[in-house]
Amino acid sequence: MSENVTTLINESPCAQPGGGGPLTYDFDRSEFWRSIPLWRDVDSKTFGDFRWQQRNSVTSIPGIKEALCELASSALISDIEAGLLKTPMNIRLTPYIFSRIHWENFENDPIRRQFLPLGSQFVPDHPQVMDDSLAEDVDKATPYLTHRYPDKALFLPITLCPVYCSFCTRSRVVGGSTAVKSKSAYGAKSKEWDSTFEYIRNHPDLEDIVISGGDALLLRPDQIRQIGRTLLQIPTVRRIRFATKGLAIMPMKFTSDNEWVKALDDVCRLGREKMKEVALHTHFNTDREISSWTSEAMKVLSDTGVRVRNQSVLISGVNDAFDCLHYTTKKLSSLLIQPYYLYLHDMVPGCDHLRTTVREAEYLSNRLQGAIAGFNTPRVVCDAPGGGGKREISSYTLYDQEIGVSAWTSPTAKPNEIFYYYDPINKLPEDGRVIWSKHGEIKRRLAKFKSDAESKAEATRT
Ligand SMILES: *Cc1c(COP(=O)(O)O)cnc(C)c1O
Ligand code: SF4
Repeated sequence: MSENVTTLINESPCAQPGGGGPLTYDFDRSEFWRSIPLWRDVDSKTFGDFRWQQRNSVTSIPGIKEALCELASSALISDIEAGLLKTPMNIRLTPYIFSRIHWENFENDPIRRQFLPLGSQFVPDHPQVMDDSLAEDVDKATPYLTHRYPDKALFLPITLCPVYCSFCTRSRVVGGSTAVKSKSAYGAKSKEWDSTFEYIRNHPDLEDIVISGGDALLLRPDQIRQIGRTLLQIPTVRRIRFATKGLAIMPMKFTSDNEWVKALDDVCRLGREKMKEVALHTHFNTDREISSWTSEAMKVLSDTGVRVRNQSVLISGVNDAFDCLHYTTKKLSSLLIQPYYLYLHDMVPGCDHLRTTVREAEYLSNRLQGAIAGFNTPRVVCDAPGGGGKREISSYTLYDQEIGVSAWTSPTAKPNEIFYYYDPINKLPEDGRVIWSKHGEIKRRLAKFKSDAESKAEATRT
């Protein structure tokens, strides 16, 4: 299965025909959405309107059937129905991202795999997965702010997104409830943010503020201005970043929502006046998410002067082949989108079919280094479960590949603690899978591993 997927990825636009020669960066200019029966007659102007994209987003099984008509086989629909009984995430796809899926090969399609779970592809959760794997709630300084690192903090003003991703690390709060997970999602409530701004004002060490969610794309223009201005006016805040998947899943937001872009533009101007950085952090995982709509959006964003960076998640069957990752990285760089992070998949529920091992991530990290300009090389990191923060993939203290467990320290964020990441069991060598099936044996093996890791960490500290 995983071999198949890798072959398919290599046959995707990731791999250049002929190989070896200089890479070309073609941006799909076709009216690709017309291959979806429901949108056969939709013209480019309509498709390019963000309001139309929002209104026509696909959020349910009947919606999928309606969009696909004869392309929706009963096997596909019942497989998605089975997937929805197991996933903590709602369905929401913009027409843009929905029509980037190659439906004739939906099973292995890297876009479908990110947004529409198939029941048949789930594997049992690892016993160590956690709802709040990054312990963001533990490090909450206010209801909307996670303060873990000395000089940077994470502001979460909204839990809604224009799409919902199967692999979301905040599946415990983002979007609406599902069959297996109930949540109380919140929209943006600007009146409640004052205590967060006050906290940041009272903590002059905080120089970097990440505005994430949820998705900053769904903040209204006046909220973008309010957040941007308030933060930039705090003398000790030096840099702010808005996190949005928008560029990857609804690029027409930036070419058709003039008011929103104007608000961002105003914030960027204030940033320049104050010699402070305003950035937009986005989230592409494959080159298939990039089209001529993306390059048009980037032209608009370049005019505002906002710095754009990309954070990807390493996902099995989506971008875990070197050619794909390399090409996506280069193509993003060609659009002035700077690859920043490639995260090892967090240990959250309902995702073990999407996770990879530390070993695979390390291999990709090694191949990427030297393959592109250093400043466009994403840092491959493990966000250490339990709140250790982002750690370079090769910086673990100890790693047992057979049972798939690695130990990490975090001297700055959480000195004296050790954090453990567990590879997905289905990706382990046969012997490792057998050990996990025997309660006593895995218990002994883990105890030994943890005691070795503690000795090693102790030796490094002194
Ligand atoms: C990722 C993250 C940040 C920002 O970290 P950078 O490495 O600067 O991108 C800040 N706070 C929390 C809790 C985070 O998870
Ligand atoms: S856009 Fe980000 S926050 Fe929203 S569902 Fe996807 S991964 Fe989660």
